[in-house]
Amino acid sequence: MYKLNRIILFLVFTPLEVFLKGMRRLFNRKSFVILGLLTGSFISLGIAKDLDLTIVYDNNAYNEKLETRWGFSCLIEGLEKTILFDVGGEGSVLLKNMEKLKIEPKTIDIIILSHIHHDHIGGLSDFLRENPLVTVYMPSSLPQSVKDKVKDAGAKLVEVRSSIEICKNAYSTGELGAWIKEESLIIKTSKGLVIITGCAHPGIVNIVEKAKEILKINVYPVRNVAEEGSKIYKGSSHQKKKISNRVYLVLGGFHLCWMNAWNIKEIVNGIKKEKVEKVAPCHCSGNLARKLFEKTYGKDFILVGCGKKIRIKDAF
Ligand SMILES: [Zn+2]
Ligand SMILES: [Zn+2]
Repeated sequence: MYKLNRIILFLVFTPLEVFLKGMRRLFNRKSFVILGLLTGSFISLGIAKDLDLTIVYDNNAYNEKLETRWGFSCLIEGLEKTILFDVGGEGSVLLKNMEKLKIEPKTIDIIILSHIHHDHIGGLSDFLRENPLVTVYMPSSLPQSVKDKVKDAGAKLVEVRSSIEICKNAYSTGELGAWIKEESLIIKTSKGLVIITGCAHPGIVNIVEKAKEILKINVYPVRNVAEEGSKIYKGSSHQKKKISNRVYLVLGGFHLCWMNAWNIKEIVNGIKKEKVEKVAPCHCSGNLARKLFEKTYGKDFILVGCGKKIRIKDAF
């Protein structure tokens, strides 16, 4: 019995000792520290991810190499899916701009169409010819002819009515507005919500309000002590602390190009009241509105146009 124990101990500890000796010889203390730091930074790289928003189609110029046309399209990278929000009016312009920006259409997983207007959906067929392996989200009120384009190309169609999750951290507001129905995109980031709009026909302030309402969550539920403890505490019915979501950025068409300064100022105040941290109005926002937003927002106003890229660091 004694002999058997010694044999077992020998078999277990000898390889371990040899292994540790070898490791000690291979790496001195300094190497171990460097190795640890490298592993740590790789782990943190894996956790924190940036969110990149690139305007690929807009009537406002930014990158001189790109073509500008009336319309809107924005590429969203950094989520678990790569999303193209709206596809502009002319497919050839969209694809040429993407090529100049070195964006490969095949890398896109999801297309979101905001609303029926041609300057937002016109590029659809040309894009689907390049990449039919996408899922297209569109307001269910869009005509059958647009839905058929998606189906005929062999792409997947998702008709949106009420708010839905598109992928982790990305949501559609659902169809908003009475006359021209429109969906906007809400992205949940560590800095707050990022809202992307096409034309904002239902009203930009309404969209922001709705987005906050959709993602209002009860973050820190307080446990019901009365149920758990032996004593009964008065007034300890199920309490929940409600935290409403902060809005970090609103980007896209604000649809203010036809408004006078007085009306625009009302909207700027409305957006400010909603505690929106940064604004990036483009497309149908108009130059007057962009100037008035810049006056109020200062450094938190982002001038965007075709080719502009906004990087939100450590967004997820
Ligand atoms: Zn429109
Ligand atoms: Zn538009």
